[in-house]
Amino acid sequence: MFTRIYILKFPKDIVDQPIICQLVRQFDVEFNILKATILPQHEGVMILELRGHKENIKKGLAYLKGLGVKAESVATSIHRDDERCFQCGACTGICPTTALSLKRPQMAVIFDAEKCSGCGLCVTVCPVKAMEVSQERISGFSESAFEVH
Ligand code: SF4
Ligand code: SF4
Repeated sequence: MFTRIYILKFPKDIVDQPIICQLVRQFDVEFNILKATILPQHEGVMILELRGHKENIKKGLAYLKGLGVKAESVATSIHRDDERCFQCGACTGICPTTALSLKRPQMAVIFDAEKCSGCGLCVTVCPVKAMEVSQERISGFSESAFEVH
């Protein structure tokens, strides 16, 4: 599962169309609206988390680009505060990419940042808020935002 956050700007002539629903219907891309400012007859701005197979997200982004939507991608990075983490293991059961795993027999919780997709699920379950999420705007509103690697 590929997850990425985008800031999207919609031209005012299409803000009233059900464009985001088409991402689900046509491209099987799940979405989570983090923030939206959309006024009739004005440019709309939306911060959207997209989830799905990488190829489907590529097609969905190409669809948005074809409609004149401008996009900026946002990188999510997750950091563990090792001072706070008391190795309870609650996050290992929820992590979909095994970036958080239990090392036996020591029962140590290992965090492999290379495997992390930035989904943020561990942030919600950690009882001591040891998992921290930060976001960085990485592409600007440029063509490169539509590229999925
Ligand atoms: S954000 Fe947390 S739960 Fe999600 S993949 Fe990364 S370590 Fe695992
Ligand atoms: S849930 Fe929090 S305290 Fe428990 S192992 Fe994971 S990061 Fe550490």
